[in-house]
Amino acid sequence: MSELPKFRLPAFNPSRLSPCFCNSGKRFKSCCGSKDPNRPPPFGVQVVHNFISDELCDNWVARAETKPRETLKTIDVENSTKTHLAQKINPARVTESVVLGELEDELNREITRAIQTKIEPHYKRKIAWHENAILLRYSPGGLYKAHADSDSYIPEHKVMVKSLDRDVSLLLYLNDDYTGGGIRFNKFNYRYQPKKGDLIFFPSDYRYTHEAEKVISGIRYAVVSWSALSKVPRVHAGPPEDSIILDEAGVGSG
Ligand SMILES: [Zn+2]
Repeated sequence: MSELPKFRLPAFNPSRLSPCFCNSGKRFKSCCGSKDPNRPPPFGVQVVHNFISDELCDNWVARAETKPRETLKTIDVENSTKTHLAQKINPARVTESVVLGELEDELNREITRAIQTKIEPHYKRKIAWHENAILLRYSPGGLYKAHADSDSYIPEHKVMVKSLDRDVSLLLYLNDDYTGGGIRFNKFNYRYQPKKGDLIFFPSDYRYTHEAEKVISGIRYAVVSWSALSKVPRVHAGPPEDSIILDEAGVGSG
């Protein structure tokens, strides 16, 4: 057996009866793990309605419809080098990404705005960079099975490790005229049906393992990006290619 990996993470499998991890004093089953369909989001999941105006959502969707698309690939952590992340086709991810062209800067500006006006104030921390925006297009049958944005499982050691320098994940939802396509946080029994204009953000680690449920009818558009806190230990030597640097002094390992 090889050496225990760096960046291994503590187990997170709260039982229904255990005190909730959010320190509310309630049991997990009556708090962040509740099965009540009308419950609030679990600790850590932030939903900001109308972050993107209806007009801008409609504008982006209309322009996205005219652009070419690519079958989306996922990062192959095992074969990634320090800053160049190898990519591979993954059958668990049935979606396309829109080739953004001139839309790229506009999407990145709104992601930067989300970070500066919502995420940094929420965490009271600086964000060093965010990854280039990706616009996902899910047609009927499209889905993305349960996954964690920053972590992967090492079967040899039966541990989760942080494998990507992502701390806060964010999504912008551009429409809601489809059926299916909820976002589900598996460890919390929590499902949310996105609304047009929503910003959602949450920690990228595996406690917040999530899936995009299958779209039944219509087309679902979502912008996704991942951001890294300033001055935290880094798994890789530098930000991923094409990242937008927000805090140069916070990029290095903290
Ligand atoms: Zn709780």
